[in-house]
Amino acid sequence: MADQTGISTQHIVEKVWLSIAERRLRPGVQLKEGQLATIFDVSRARIRQALSALEREGLVTIIPNRGAFVCQPSVDDAHDVFAVRRSVERCVVERIGKLAAKADIDRLRSHVASERVANAKDVTTDIIKLSGGFHLLLAEISGSDFLFGMMRDLISRTSLITAVYRNTARFNCGPDEHAEIVEAISVGDVGKASRLMEHHLEHVESELDLREVRDLSHDLKAALA
Ligand SMILES: [Zn+2]
Repeated sequence: MADQTGISTQHIVEKVWLSIAERRLRPGVQLKEGQLATIFDVSRARIRQALSALEREGLVTIIPNRGAFVCQPSVDDAHDVFAVRRSVERCVVERIGKLAAKADIDRLRSHVASERVANAKDVTTDIIKLSGGFHLLLAEISGSDFLFGMMRDLISRTSLITAVYRNTARFNCGPDEHAEIVEAISVGDVGKASRLMEHHLEHVESELDLREVRDLSHDLKAALA
């Protein structure tokens, strides 16, 4: 649904989501309704809708009488999210292994090709979207709405965790390991695809520095600009 200005709730959600994923908007930052309404040139009601949607995705905490804040995932939260991802994504791969059609394999290969292009061009926004998107595409192909919903939630939470605890500037959830998973699926080797996925998720988690929370202050307007 669009406001008079044509800015939809979804657009605001996406913009905030990306600012978090790209580490411009840091955990703990307050998302002030009035300020956001000015930045996006929409009503405060529209901002409240967007904040509620972000809360449902686990990216924002709304504290009564205090306002909305970007969530601050703890080290334990981070370990939990990756533990759950290992289980859920094993289910996804096992499901696909039994029913992957040639068209599905083609979609996965073409997605990995897009990831390589984004990496080569070094477009951070595309790299982040496409790397998470690979895992979402697998869940979509699994044909399970339940697994897809779980993955969408887990990818949002992973982005936030990565934003807080990432060691390097780059996302390492990259096309090379994704390509290996696709090739194992394409030859029907579910066991190998499952092992590769587990290794991939361990690799992504191992690149996080799960010891300390960094300096988290940041300016809202600059982050969303
Ligand atoms: Zn990945």
